[in-house]
Amino acid sequence: MKPAIHRPTVIQVNLDAIRRNIENFRKHIGEKKNIWAVLKADAYGHGAVRVSQAIEDIVDGFCVSNLDEGIELRKSDIGKPILVLSGIPPKDAILARDFDIVLTAPSLNWLKEVTQADKTVSGLKVHIKVDSGMGRIGVTTSDEANAMLSLADDYAIDVEGVFTHFSTADEVDTTYYELQIKRFNEIVAHLSRRPKYVHSTNSAAGLWHKDQVQDILRLGIAMYGLNPSGKSLQVPFRLEPALTLTSELTHVKVIQAGDSIGYGATFTADKSIVVGTVPIGYADGWTRQMQGSNVLVDGQFCEIIGRVSMDQLTIQLPKHYSLGTKVTLIGKNGKEEITAQDVADKRETIHHEVICLLSDRIPRFYKENKNR
Ligand SMILES: *Cc1c(COP(=O)(O)O)cnc(C)c1O
Repeated sequence: MKPAIHRPTVIQVNLDAIRRNIENFRKHIGEKKNIWAVLKADAYGHGAVRVSQAIEDIVDGFCVSNLDEGIELRKSDIGKPILVLSGIPPKDAILARDFDIVLTAPSLNWLKEVTQADKTVSGLKVHIKVDSGMGRIGVTTSDEANAMLSLADDYAIDVEGVFTHFSTADEVDTTYYELQIKRFNEIVAHLSRRPKYVHSTNSAAGLWHKDQVQDILRLGIAMYGLNPSGKSLQVPFRLEPALTLTSELTHVKVIQAGDSIGYGATFTADKSIVVGTVPIGYADGWTRQMQGSNVLVDGQFCEIIGRVSMDQLTIQLPKHYSLGTKVTLIGKNGKEEITAQDVADKRETIHHEVICLLSDRIPRFYKENKNR
């Protein structure tokens, strides 16, 4: 989809905030550890190319979720290591090798198919994935991992890493987290050789279990300034949200008692009120669940009345405002703020989903201190 640049609905990404979050993370976990920035899903909606270019000098590598995301970064002149975190079709491994993109090897079977699809796959780099309890991809025994190491040797595939992923590192109860660590450590201890990078930690584990960071921290959500646990755990240092979402009033009118608004006529005024129209809707990722929640105009919370349409929504205003008045959907406006977490609460989901759903129709603009 083409970004709608002739519409006032925009995302502003503060690249300096992302840099500060990374730098604070570095202080927190110690200078010696590698940080690989996670840029999957277009950098959690922030725009992977611009984010990667803004932070390449302060991180050690990048993680993406599929090969195309990796190729996009390589074509944008990103030179640092790029790891694809998901399993990809074995036939595409050769393409990854050609772009110097590191793959996740989820099973012996996968690796066999890679070597069968193309015997000249030498030079491919992989990290073996251990399933310690997430239950999606990965090996569950050291025997399988060792068979992969030896098959890789036969084809000159470089097993550069071994890693796992936690499913509960953002929770107060650490029982399952510790079980995953135990399983992972046991498998790593029984490998016929230790790969260069052993890694397990995401944002949550890096924040609340920093001693567990081995060779690499895979830093995702917290880099964008959001608390991985939502509201259940306090972060040990300040995280600065990098994304704001704003628009403008495109229409303002007074309606009378008995007048209805939107599809289904779900809102009917019981008195004369001022209504503003904002050009954002569910096609932008602003879902219909947002009916009844608020946006900010002139530092005041204004309720979304009537259904959210595909491209527009309507709000109740405290008084008449002129066309072009700023509307804040995520971010600060005056003394008030709406966070991605507030939006997630309204939708009974997590803020990750809120920011990833912001569609490509919304143009991204970037704030960056060029003098650093
Ligand atoms: C998404 C992801 C991460 C980053 O997780 P955050 O919680 O966003 O820090 C790390 N590792 C893997 C395998 C992932 O899929």
